[in-house]
Amino acid sequence: MTEPKPDRQIFHCDCNSFFASVEETFRPELRSVPMAVAGDPESRHGIILAKNERAKKYKISTAETVWSAKKKCPELVLVPPRRQTYSEFCERVNAIYEQYSPLVERFGVDESFIDVTGCLRSFGGDALKCANEIRERVKREIDITISIGVSWNKIFAKLGSDYKKPDAVTNINRENWKEIVFPLPASDLFFVGRKTADALGKMGVRTIGDLANFDRDLLVRRFGKFGEQLFINANGLDASPVLAAGEGEAIKSVGNGYTFKRDLLSESDVKTAVAYLSDSVATRLRKHDFKCRVVQVAIKDTNLQSITRQMTIAAPSHLASEIGAAALELIAKHWKAGKPIRTLTISGENLVPADQAESEQLSLFDEPSARNNERNEKLELTLDKIRERYGSKAVITGNILGNDLGIRDNVNK
Ligand SMILES: [Mg+2]
Repeated sequence: MTEPKPDRQIFHCDCNSFFASVEETFRPELRSVPMAVAGDPESRHGIILAKNERAKKYKISTAETVWSAKKKCPELVLVPPRRQTYSEFCERVNAIYEQYSPLVERFGVDESFIDVTGCLRSFGGDALKCANEIRERVKREIDITISIGVSWNKIFAKLGSDYKKPDAVTNINRENWKEIVFPLPASDLFFVGRKTADALGKMGVRTIGDLANFDRDLLVRRFGKFGEQLFINANGLDASPVLAAGEGEAIKSVGNGYTFKRDLLSESDVKTAVAYLSDSVATRLRKHDFKCRVVQVAIKDTNLQSITRQMTIAAPSHLASEIGAAALELIAKHWKAGKPIRTLTISGENLVPADQAESEQLSLFDEPSARNNERNEKLELTLDKIRERYGSKAVITGNILGNDLGIRDNVNK
């Protein structure tokens, strides 16, 4: 008989009101007034990206417009965002995390998972002691507060960092998990977006406890493989690993690869293939109500040598136009123009529920690209509807038409 493996000790660390907190380190006087970082503070349509503790008292929320926030709090101080500075702070915070474990997985600009199992010797095995030391060091050395969730799996660790904040540690362990996790709304659970929450609500599932106690087979029948994952997540059975930087594989990903009838040679071959593959990836993301933070391409040449490269995109996306643009950028950067490509795979990695992504701080888009985005979004959602009604072959995007690469239609099922 083999001994059961001991539980892992996983932290999810979340910087509290990250952009606003960083601004306060430069201008401490902002701490005593309601303040928000806004995409375009001069415009009524500018979007609130982060707010400080004082502004929270006015119920100002992320992703609302400057106009609506000012209505709630006319004296609100608005500060424009500084991407470069935020990513420098992100580096500094993660440099502290990395002193505690080699397994630090960044999840967006202000969140990271850390697996400290096996790194707790100097804490006498006490994960909470370790978490509190990290929390205090970030506060002392970087002057921002973080909240940490501690649990045996990533899903509950993430719930924990949100459970009590700012500047707090929440331990969700085998003894207390049902008490803490079960009463929370199902929509708090990782991967449960608005659409999924609505569908669950119709089945009478409102809390994570409802979900955990629901019939597993019924969930599978209703949502497929995703339903199984929901059941697993709600019951603390998720075993996905914390991945160190560069380990590639994400928590979950959606990808599509194709070996073409003939090798891709010209720029237009590559564009056709990318259009086809990113359309298929984007359609599947939308179908499951996800956006991806990272776009990855894998390229195989005629000797079956392959490379895999990825990039984080400016804001999470489920649009073929954006995923395709990122894929083309990666190919242009990492593959010699004209070198034959036998197989190309595009995937969306680091998935987040679409509606969670919408309100995410990362959406630092400026106004014109936001409008552009909205237009692409409408177009692609319309494609989804047509395909739903008339089948996947009903719409073939322009540059795919008449190709000799073996691509006949959209293979999304
Ligand atoms: Mg945060």
